[in-house]
Amino acid sequence: MEIYEGKAKKVIPLDDGKVIMEFKDDATAFNGGKKAQFKGKGWLNAQISAKLFRLLEENGIKTHFIGIAGENKLIVEHLKMYPLEVVVRNVVAGSLKKRLPFNEGTQLKEPIVELYYKEDALSDPMINYYHARALGVSEAEIKEMENIALKVNEILKEYFEKKGIILVDFKLEFGKNANGEIVLADEISPDTCRFWDAETKESLDKDVFRFNKGDLISAYEELYNRLT
Ligand code: 5GP
Repeated sequence: MEIYEGKAKKVIPLDDGKVIMEFKDDATAFNGGKKAQFKGKGWLNAQISAKLFRLLEENGIKTHFIGIAGENKLIVEHLKMYPLEVVVRNVVAGSLKKRLPFNEGTQLKEPIVELYYKEDALSDPMINYYHARALGVSEAEIKEMENIALKVNEILKEYFEKKGIILVDFKLEFGKNANGEIVLADEISPDTCRFWDAETKESLDKDVFRFNKGDLISAYEELYNRLT
């Protein structure tokens, strides 16, 4: 496996079935259409992800997280990644407004789970089970990922509620380990979730950057401080 560099992370393979995931200070939005750097973002996302992976592990979710390997680096299990993004939504925001006739901030009666094909060249299109099968992912595998995603939602929603934060929506990625198990991977951070302050409804996530809502680092720090 070669070193892989994505928009916000670098993935460096080790020889023992483990991988270093290095979080960069780069931020991109709108499929790379908007770019900037924020000193300290990599550290914040690594620390927040570590904290949330630990919380999920404690609650019975199998994740790739092994430990923290330095300031902005995590050690994780090497997985064969699925080319999918699984999005869970509790509150209407973002691209859901293009699909349903509800205003931003509307509480959904039950969570919505969506599947996307992770492919920048196609702008991560939304797909269904048929497309997933064409990509070589079985219906049973998708169902398992969706079930895990809904469990993750229950755990995180309750956890954030206690911190005065609404978990609006988030994106997960999964991989398969050497034993053929489906394992939660990638990161869980303000880059990949929408978090709103329960009182003010202010964004504590990447929407601050996407929509010029203020200082990204202050928002991420506020989130981090509430978790620690
Ligand atoms: P939306 O579809 O509304 O743009 O995104 C839904 C949720 O999934 C948001 O929390 C967003 O941050 C996350 N998400 C969806 N696609 C991506 C992606 O390609 N990269 C990242 N970092 N997050 C994503």
